[in-house]
Amino acid sequence: MSTMSTEQPVRVRFAPSPTGHLHVGSARTALFNWLIARKSGGAFILRIEDTDTARNVAGADRKIVEDLRWLGLHWDEGIEVGGPHAPYYQSQRMDLYEAAIARLLETGHAYYAFDTSDELDAMRAVAQERKCTFRYPRPERFPDEADVERARQQGLPVVVRFVMPERDITVNDEIMGDVTVAATELDDFIIRKADGMPTYHLANVVDDAHMGVTLVIRGQEFLAQTPRHIALQAALGYATPRYAHMALTMDMKGRKLSKRDGAVEVFAFRQEGYLPEALLNFIALLGWSPGGDRERFTLDEMIGLFSLDRMNRMNSKFDRDKLLAFNTDAIREASPERLLAAFDDWLSVNPDSPIAKANLDTATRRMLLAANTSVRTLADLESRAGFIFAADDAIAYDPAAVKKVLEKGDGAGYAMLETLVAVFEGLEPWSEEAIDETIRAFCETQAVGMGKVAQPIRVAVSGGTVSPGIGQTLALLGREKTLRRIRRILTERPVQS
Ligand code: GLU
Repeated sequence: MSTMSTEQPVRVRFAPSPTGHLHVGSARTALFNWLIARKSGGAFILRIEDTDTARNVAGADRKIVEDLRWLGLHWDEGIEVGGPHAPYYQSQRMDLYEAAIARLLETGHAYYAFDTSDELDAMRAVAQERKCTFRYPRPERFPDEADVERARQQGLPVVVRFVMPERDITVNDEIMGDVTVAATELDDFIIRKADGMPTYHLANVVDDAHMGVTLVIRGQEFLAQTPRHIALQAALGYATPRYAHMALTMDMKGRKLSKRDGAVEVFAFRQEGYLPEALLNFIALLGWSPGGDRERFTLDEMIGLFSLDRMNRMNSKFDRDKLLAFNTDAIREASPERLLAAFDDWLSVNPDSPIAKANLDTATRRMLLAANTSVRTLADLESRAGFIFAADDAIAYDPAAVKKVLEKGDGAGYAMLETLVAVFEGLEPWSEEAIDETIRAFCETQAVGMGKVAQPIRVAVSGGTVSPGIGQTLALLGREKTLRRIRRILTERPVQS
């Protein structure tokens, strides 16, 4: 493993293809690149790799931008912010790729080929029969412009292939160590497709060189491609950047992360009520640890602690329970201001939730958060307190609670509610403190325990027996709704035994 210092300012990039919202695996790639840029005082570049027109999804670049900003991983150069190497969409950099391809053709490092997919399939089938790796057979003589013209007229697909050198290539990877790929595993790969677009390999290498990228941190799935990139760099006279390929992140059963087990996109975690600081902290530990037992860090602390030589070669596990625990802590530890901002953000991405639709004023949102500091996600507020903001007739009564709290003892609970209506009608002001104080005094004069009073109210206003403190609940609910719900249950008497 390399002990190379990371003190030199690095130029790193995050280069997603625009296929949708940011996957947590990609977020991890972005995070580690960002961390090392910040730590070394270097630059973090955001480049969109959109030359695979079949895979591009319209609007996905906006989603990636939104997700990165939500995480707080801001870029120094790239789409939207600009920079010295603009444009940062590969689809707008075609002249650079064309120039590189022309140079490779001129210098004999590339050649045209016209094989149809049927022909290629047949060649692959033969290789498979012989149980050897398929390698494209380089022609003795490279086609010239006249051949290309003829092929075009015949409607054949015209591609450009790179002349892969006949030697083993070693990647000096800063996480995985030296990884050698045998020449027999590498062949003359395509650098320009029949539709005229450069392939990922070509565009990626050209841009890394032109943008002055000095270090590439990316997923292990790209490691097998890196020898091709190194060969391209040599042929084009580019320097090879440092490479660091991160081990994979699997689910708890060692499989690929899947939506079946829960959220996999950053935006989905946001909608589920995770805080970005908790998600980032959790993601950072997927393949990295600063040593010791310490697991909880702020983003600033991570910048201070981060180094490539503390990255793990072993695959990491995406432990959703651990993430939930991090989030629970983050919510509990957040300042009221931070929590309010996070809650407002959550409301903005859950516009259809009853709480969002209730359009709560700031004081109410604060009260709601203060009454529920032990939630695990912001979405839990919905199940804990959603009843407060639901329509009165949407409250569903728990039959067991109705029986136990209201019907038992000849309807003692109902009788209690009848008495309370009058008390609540005259209560001034309708505040948490005044409500709690009134109920306390009421229990005293009636010589009954708190439960005998608070529980019938809870069933009436929420349908069940669990809610935040009764004063808090009723204050949030308001006098009118409280009385409406009490009167409704008195009229309906939902379960008759
Ligand atoms: N566009 C590639 C991706 O989608 C980038 C790979 C790389 O970082 O070289 O992940």
